[in-house]
Amino acid sequence: MTVAQLFPKLEIPETIAAGPGPGNTDARVLAAFSGAGIADHMHGDVLRGMVECKLMLRQVWGTENIHTFGVAGTGWSGLDVMFSAIMPGDKVVVFNNGTFSGIDGLTVRMKAATAAELALNPLDPKPASVVVVDVPHGVSVTGGMVEEALARHKPKWACMAHWETGSGRINDIRGFSEACERHDVMGLVDAVSSLGVEDFRIDDFPGVHGWASCPQKGICCLPLTYAPVSFTDRYIETLKKTGTRTFVHHPIMEARHWGIIDGKDVEKGTYHRTHSAYAVSAFHEALRITLQQGIPARAKEYAFHEAALRRAVRAMGCEVTSNMTSLVVLNLPSELAGREMELVQSCRAQNFGIWPTLSAPVQIRIGILNLLTRAAITDIVHRFADAIRAMGGTVDGARVEEALNAAYDQAIAAE
Ligand SMILES: *Cc1c(COP(=O)(O)O)cnc(C)c1O
Repeated sequence: MTVAQLFPKLEIPETIAAGPGPGNTDARVLAAFSGAGIADHMHGDVLRGMVECKLMLRQVWGTENIHTFGVAGTGWSGLDVMFSAIMPGDKVVVFNNGTFSGIDGLTVRMKAATAAELALNPLDPKPASVVVVDVPHGVSVTGGMVEEALARHKPKWACMAHWETGSGRINDIRGFSEACERHDVMGLVDAVSSLGVEDFRIDDFPGVHGWASCPQKGICCLPLTYAPVSFTDRYIETLKKTGTRTFVHHPIMEARHWGIIDGKDVEKGTYHRTHSAYAVSAFHEALRITLQQGIPARAKEYAFHEAALRRAVRAMGCEVTSNMTSLVVLNLPSELAGREMELVQSCRAQNFGIWPTLSAPVQIRIGILNLLTRAAITDIVHRFADAIRAMGGTVDGARVEEALNAAYDQAIAAE
């Protein structure tokens, strides 16, 4: 006789999400999620909520693209929809400067590989039609690099991460868009880390035809709700001609449930798959919070608090190599060099959720998603200083306090 193996009820502790993502979900988003009724995916209020989300998303992205909506899942779900227009044999140039653009490159290689190329190396295909431009970790992709590669290879598509979260580097989106326009290439951008953190409008970048982001970073929603995407009419026309081999991640079909049919807004969506009233409700509230604060104001807050955190960790002797405003990526002082992973693990054991880099070299990443207060940053700084001390490192507490106070008090004086 077999005995059922029943585990105790799963308890997941409260943590400080001080990493690259997921961020700290807003209490209003959690309340919206748990407060939704058991409405089905064709209930009038759920359909109305999805249409309202679509309209709010266009404001958040800064676009008039009709095909702007959410893809159920996480960042990779939105990216998979965006890359679905890439067909076997398509010529593509991908810029890789870290973990995430590296995985974008893998996705692109899977889509662009011919059947024979995929069978040759199913988990890591190397199609002849895809050029991966490797840019070293810690270095940003520049407009010059994009110009040179597009001039040389003349692809159909070019792909880049806007903010490469692996190394914390901002890539040159303007240079990318302009080079795409000059060479009549359709740009595709992974904006998973930048949406809701940087002040930008996608309609200012006409060389880019597909954009994808995620729910749980700058948008402060829950993972597995909705990944924002947006496509130009040219992208959709291109896709209509080639088709793509997916039903669930089809940009045109997925848009139907959001009330986008035949390239036009309609009052109500039609069935594509079972959407969740909980997810719709949470996403709707997250977008309301974003628009209430406004993207420009939020971007300023991120820059302000990241500068304070950066100054404080530098006062501990750390070297910061990133330039994103939601994250600092750093090397420990030389006396602790090589012990980054150990330090990250000791912090995580205390539910202080910082991260290492996920590809070489090993560095520490401390994020501030939805932690935009002086008290929250000060708490992060103190916890990090304590972790360094616990490993036998030295931290001059007075110097760190001085750096924090200088960042905050100078800014207050400047107002
Ligand atoms: C986080 C991230 C992803 C992956 O997103 P998931 O939500 O984990 O699926 C992809 N690209 C970039 C740039 C990211 O920061």
